[in-house]
Amino acid sequence: MNKITVNRFAEKKIKQGICVLDGIDYQNLSVTNCLVKLVSEKGQALGTAYLSKQNKGVGWVISDQEQTLEKFSFEDLFAKAKVKRQTFYESPTTTAFRVFNQDGDGFGGISVDVYNNFAVFSWYNEYVYSIKDRIVQAFRSIYPEVLGAYEKVRFKGLEWESAHLYGQEAPEYFTILENGVTYQVFLNDGLMTGIFLDQHDVRGSLVDGLAAGKTLLNMFSYTAAFSVAAAMGGASQTISVDLAKRSRELSEAHFIANGLDMAHHKLIVMDVFSYFKYAKRHNLSFDVIILDPPSFARNKKETFSVAKDYHKLVAQALEILSPDGLMIASTNAANLSPNRFKKEIEKALSGVKYDYLASYRLPSDFTYNKNDESSNYLKVFTIQVQK
Ligand code: SAH
Repeated sequence: MNKITVNRFAEKKIKQGICVLDGIDYQNLSVTNCLVKLVSEKGQALGTAYLSKQNKGVGWVISDQEQTLEKFSFEDLFAKAKVKRQTFYESPTTTAFRVFNQDGDGFGGISVDVYNNFAVFSWYNEYVYSIKDRIVQAFRSIYPEVLGAYEKVRFKGLEWESAHLYGQEAPEYFTILENGVTYQVFLNDGLMTGIFLDQHDVRGSLVDGLAAGKTLLNMFSYTAAFSVAAAMGGASQTISVDLAKRSRELSEAHFIANGLDMAHHKLIVMDVFSYFKYAKRHNLSFDVIILDPPSFARNKKETFSVAKDYHKLVAQALEILSPDGLMIASTNAANLSPNRFKKEIEKALSGVKYDYLASYRLPSDFTYNKNDESSNYLKVFTIQVQK
């Protein structure tokens, strides 16, 4: 096995239990897509990692011992991860959740979600993809009840993003339950499935009536899952805004799956900043506004980054929020701590009275690495504003 001598910054992170290898610490790697032994500058053995470039980092620590792949037991990892999700398995009202989450479950670069009796694997780098047969075999031994699986390729280099992996094919019309609400999902259509499972708890708060009797504006709505949850929780009217044309039919599918009347629910294909202008021009206002942008977005004119520009969204939303309205501010930007996100939000709230009613991080099926705060990437605040 190749040996990599790491600098003291990297050594510190490894000793803290951070698993992802930051590219800054590993600039002149002569090998990739293999296991390596990590050694400190003083010659201390630090464990085993695999190297492989991905969106986040250049590899992952997989053990604090010297470890060969032959001895590595994915069966043990999947079995432990399964025990942790017991409450989800027993829930009759939630049938889609994450069963393996990267370093939170002991191996970065892989995640697996179940949707009823089907599984969706995500490969985040070439190395895990190269050993996928071992991983899938281990998974099948621990999850014999899973009838079939799909895979998503979340690294560059292959010509496709989504494929059938093993077993049965999912029916074309396929719905799952979450907090008793039905969502139509698509297991083999690009990287996304129609629902972001990490928002279970936030949708749960809406199903439980956070927006009951209220009007709700859902910005960056994708398939309008927040709006559907709110509608099921008694919201009187929802408006969902997303730039992507496709979002319309996918959103409608969720509403229809729950027998909701579209007369009270509008789906608008538009840039959110244009919609803010439109709403102001027409004196519209909303009791609840949800802001859940991608970490980075680019439209024809400008780029948007959560770290620098989120306050602009809050400021715009404030102008069309009803007196005593609620804002749900969400981001999945891993590079932004909860405090920095709060500061970014509060930039737009100076001179206004507000209270944080609730905050959410990743739900319990998205087990994260407790030694690496950034792996708990989701941050959501429910804010009561008094205007
Ligand atoms: N809130 C959604 C997930 C949002 S994903 C959910 O809970 O399911 C981000 C979405 O933002 C994508 O669907 C993308 O099409 C949309 N988007 C990106 N930039 C946008 C813009 N400027 N205006 C409107 N929508 C935008």
